[in-house]
Formats: sequence, structure tokens, C-alpha cells
Amino acid sequence: MPARPGEYAPALARAQEHANRWIDSLPSRPIGPRQDAEQLLARFSMPLQELPIDAAAVVDELARLAEPGLMAIPAGRFFGWVMGGTLPAAMAADWLVSAWDQNAALRYATPATAAAEEIAGRWLLDLLGLPAGADVGFTTGATGSNFVGLAAARQFVLDGVGWDIAAEGLSGSPRINVFVGRDRHASVDLVLKYLGLGRPIEVAADAQGCLIPGALAETMDAVSGPAIVCLQAGNLHSGASDPFTEAAALAHGRGAWVHVDGAFGLWAAASRTHRHLVEGLADCDSWATDAHKTLNVPYDCGVAIVSRPQVVRSVFGVHTSYLVRDDHGPGDPFEKVPEFSRRARGVPVWAALRSLGTSGVEDLVDGLVARAQSFAQALAAMPGVEVVNEVVFTQVCVGFGSDERTRRITEHIIADGTAWMSGSHWAGRDILRISVSNFSTDEHDVQAALAAVERAMAACDLR
Ligand SMILES: *Cc1c(COP(=O)(O)O)cnc(C)c1O
Repeated sequence: MPARPGEYAPALARAQEHANRWIDSLPSRPIGPRQDAEQLLARFSMPLQELPIDAAAVVDELARLAEPGLMAIPAGRFFGWVMGGTLPAAMAADWLVSAWDQNAALRYATPATAAAEEIAGRWLLDLLGLPAGADVGFTTGATGSNFVGLAAARQFVLDGVGWDIAAEGLSGSPRINVFVGRDRHASVDLVLKYLGLGRPIEVAADAQGCLIPGALAETMDAVSGPAIVCLQAGNLHSGASDPFTEAAALAHGRGAWVHVDGAFGLWAAASRTHRHLVEGLADCDSWATDAHKTLNVPYDCGVAIVSRPQVVRSVFGVHTSYLVRDDHGPGDPFEKVPEFSRRARGVPVWAALRSLGTSGVEDLVDGLVARAQSFAQALAAMPGVEVVNEVVFTQVCVGFGSDERTRRITEHIIADGTAWMSGSHWAGRDILRISVSNFSTDEHDVQAALAAVERAMAACDLR
């Protein structure tokens, strides 16, 4: 059943109509899904029929089936986890990426998407104040980017002790000690598992979850051998960042590679007002960030940045005769990420940056922080409410007296539907976490969400 060019138009038109309807519903719809995973499974549950169905009809059916199970993540009143919405230019570019259907592995084969991604990469290095000669790869997310940075680190530090991991593998290799802050993101541990590096060595952190440099020195001095230090820009709960200047100097003085997990916090570097939070970032060796969080491009899009291109390319590059390699200059896209074939997920990054400009990126970051501060100020003024973290970036953690009351209020907020916020556990207590990650969140959204918090408190106290 070969589709001819004209046969795409009706299905795409239906998709566009459903997309517009979804986006138009965001300001007024309840944020949470109306049905749960089991109910959705029942809706989708049907045997695969024998005969083909028209593409436009399939799109209509999909939209109808999915509707009650969609979470309004792109809405301005969604504050769960750290997620972010989607900028119009990025969403439209993402559609084009699907229509173009380029395999983004090779410069030779798909020069247009390779060029857009290369330029997006250069813009990112410039915006984030990172070394211009670094390699930029587009991954599925910060987990994938942590994988890239820590894989480069593993190769580099083993090379330093004369162990060729590409030839010999890890069996019998010297042990690598990986040092992480006590309050790192779980994806770091996951990636260390992928890489065969085992459990990391924890370093003490302060009340905001930031690694303590003196503790890093002490912990590193207690063991010997090749070392990797994994720092963090943007703690999931406090939004605070590790002290890069001091920690990187200590780590480098002890021969370590320094990687930074900056899934959302790296973007502080793009703001003149907030860049002090990540001072010393450029002293490190590799960086992981997400574009699908703070930059507000669609899933899935992470950015992996490595200061030494030859290291990352020797980890992920291959030389096989059927691939027409580009041996000069920037290197092929596949040499910077774990995948060969992939969608051109860096193109929406190009579109997002082009649509915002440098001042727009700065306004985006500053706006998120301003909204978080509005939340913090208003919440701190409410009786019985405690803002638990120092609100320096986009994250606000709130306690409502007891853990029990905090959990009940969180449930009420989610059931109310006006706003969506995650419950979490941090600094030894249950909290409500508000993450401001969506470019479209405005003061009106903040006020509506605060009113929902007040309603939840009142409802909870009535019981
Ligand atoms: C979200 C996040 C990650 C994981 O990123 P994914 O894009 O979900 O893979 C890692 N570290 C931090 C600090 C994060 O906030």
C-alpha cells in the first residue's frame, strides 16, 4: 500500500487540527489526566484488525482515544518534576523534522540538518559560556548526555593510566573512583551502571544539596587511582549549583575528569542576572543538559558537550567502510552520541534559539526565576507554610507543617486540577515541589496556582 504524495495531506491536516484543538484547550482544561493508565489501556485495547485503515481516520481515532489520558504538561499551570513546554518555532520545526525524515548521523548524507545542528551547537556554547572548541551532540535527554560525558571521562582517565578500554574492555582494568555529591540526580547512578563503573563515592553536601569542596578533597584523598568527579548545576529540589571553581580546581589537582549534570541548571549561564550561580562552569570537562526542559523544545532533546572532541569521538566514532566519513573539521554527528540513526532533534533547538535570540533566551531564564520567586514570596507569607529551600533558581520546595498535612495538601492540589505540582521527599521531610519550567507561565498562572494551594489548605483543614 504505497502512499503517494497527495495522501499525506489529509492525515497531516487532521493532525494539525487536533494539535490546535489541544493547544487551545490548555488555558482552561484541568491539568491532570481525567482517566488513569488502566482506563486508557482499556480504551486502546483492541485486536489489530486485518485490513488497512485510512491514515486520516487513524489520526482521528488516536486523538479521540488519547484525549482523556493526556496530562496538560505544556500548560502554564503545570509545575511537576522539571519538564518545560514547547516554543511555537520549536514545535513547528519538529514537525518539519518528521516530514523531512533525515537520518541525522552523517554530514555527507544529510548536510542541511547537520548544518542546523552544528550552528545550534555553536550558539549553545556561546550562550552558556562554554569553550568554543567543544563538541556538541544531541541526545535523547540529560540521562543520555550524562552517559556521553561520563563515557568520555571513563576513556580519558583510563587512558591516563595506560589502559586502552576500547581494546581491553573493563575486565581487569584499574578501578575508577567516581565522586558525586550526596544530592545528585538518580540518572547519574543509572549511567554509571550502564558504564560498568558501579556505585559512586558520595561526597557531603550542604543544606541546599551543594557539594562541599573541603569534603570532596578529603574524600578524594582517602582513595587512589583514576578519578571522575560529577558535579551538578541545578539541584532538582533547591535549584542550587555546586561550587564549580573550587571543586573543579580540587578535582583537576588530583587528576580527575570533571563532568557536570546541568539538566536544567546549566541555563543559568545564559542570564547575566543568574550566571553567578554557575560560576566556574567552563573550568569543567564535560556538560550534560536538556533542551526539552529549560529551552522548551519538544521531547526528546538533550545536549552533550565535551571539551575534548578527540576523546568523545574516539568513544563513539567508528571506522567502517560503508560509512562515508567526513574526516575534516567538526566531525560527524554520530561521533558525539551513542546512536547511529536518529531524528534531527537538534533542528528544533536551532529554531528555538533563532526565534528567541540571545535576549529572548535570557528573558526566558529570568522569567522562570521571577515566577519561582513570586511563588516563594507568596507562600512564605501564608500561615502554616514554610519554603524549605533558598529559592535561587526555578525550584520551590514547600512544607505545610507535618509530612502528613503536606501529602494531603499535595493530593488536594492535584485533584483540584487548576495546577499540577509534584510531591517529593527532600532534606528529611515530605514537601510539595514547584518547578517553573514553562516559558508560557505568567503571573496570572502563578496567582491561579497560589489560589489552588489556598483552597487545598482550607479543604485539608476541614477534614
Ligand atoms: C531531568 C534531570 C535529569 C534527567 O534528564 P532526562 O532528560 O529525563 O534524561 C538529570 N539530572 C537532572 C538534574 C535533571 O533535572
